[in-house]
Amino acid sequence: MDASIGVLMACPMSLYLEQELDKRFKLYRFWAQPSRQEFLKIHAESIRAVVGNATAGADAELIDALPKLEIVSSFSVGLDKIDLNKCKEKGIRVTNTPDVLTEDVADLAIGLMLAVLRRICECDKYVRKGLWKMGDFKLTTKFSGKRVGIIGLGRIGLAVAKRAEAFDCPISYYSRSEKPNTNYKYHSSVIDLASNCDILVVACALTPETRHIVNREVINALGPKGVLINIGRGPHVDEPELVSALVEGRLGGAGLDVFEKEPEVPEQLFSLDNVVLLPHVGSGTLETRNAMADLVIGNLEAHFLNKPLLTPVV
Ligand code: NAP
Repeated sequence: MDASIGVLMACPMSLYLEQELDKRFKLYRFWAQPSRQEFLKIHAESIRAVVGNATAGADAELIDALPKLEIVSSFSVGLDKIDLNKCKEKGIRVTNTPDVLTEDVADLAIGLMLAVLRRICECDKYVRKGLWKMGDFKLTTKFSGKRVGIIGLGRIGLAVAKRAEAFDCPISYYSRSEKPNTNYKYHSSVIDLASNCDILVVACALTPETRHIVNREVINALGPKGVLINIGRGPHVDEPELVSALVEGRLGGAGLDVFEKEPEVPEQLFSLDNVVLLPHVGSGTLETRNAMADLVIGNLEAHFLNKPLLTPVV
């Protein structure tokens, strides 16, 4: 590789990725710059690639500030931190990391369902606090056989469905179009889906159309026995509405890996035992993060060697 090619990493995401990029390119760490403006004044002309993730990517402002930008390679499958229209307009290529993270995110969705319904985190606290000696833990809710509704039957949505099927859960879904090759029941509206399931899983892409796709109406349709699992993106859910529904008992529970203003999490959720909170770790295993890093590097190498991109988006 030509080690003079400037690659800008938008935020810290993987030490392994940093090391591997350092070996091949001139790596700039955006977060380590005392002044981003000053940094861009000096280095903008030499940056030909941006590496982003679910926290920071390439918005219109950054893209405009980098006149030599050729490719944005995201260390994520979600593309919501990249201005895709701007990239298309300027002929900037975009890649992501699909498939390699699907299993981990789907595994975690099932983990959240079990954790919320069987109160696994609360049980763990019960044992650690010595409360078991005072009496048995309260009864919880069965997971097997519950009706699982999925918003977005893409790679991750399908993997969640496959796993939930093994628990004898009837599966239904909502997305923009009915999928021809599944036996799962299609609902043409999210309200309809929420009214007809016990556990609602958010697994769609975050776009202007899917922002707050889970709103007050959907939460009320899911109801006081319903459970919301969000392993998509925080802004899919109207968070103040979710919080008030949980506090008021209008929703049965929630398992959340993502939040609207990460790493801020509404403190009202901290005292609720029917809620399990995770710090956006859907793809956060060593194996998967390294596979994602290899894909980012593979895409950058392919681009700069004029070979076909491994996972092109734009
Ligand atoms: P994917 O295969 O592209 O699936 C995305 C799904 O979103 C598609 O099935 C699509 O269905 C649906 N969708 C898009 N626009 C929609 C709309 N307006 N209404 C309803 N559904 C819509 O992507 P994936 O690999 O499964 O990943 C899905 C998302 O998971 C990512 O975008 C990312 O935000 C999130 N994710 C989170 C984590 C985490 O750590 N928690 C990790 C990885 C990914 P139609 O085209 O039929 O509408």
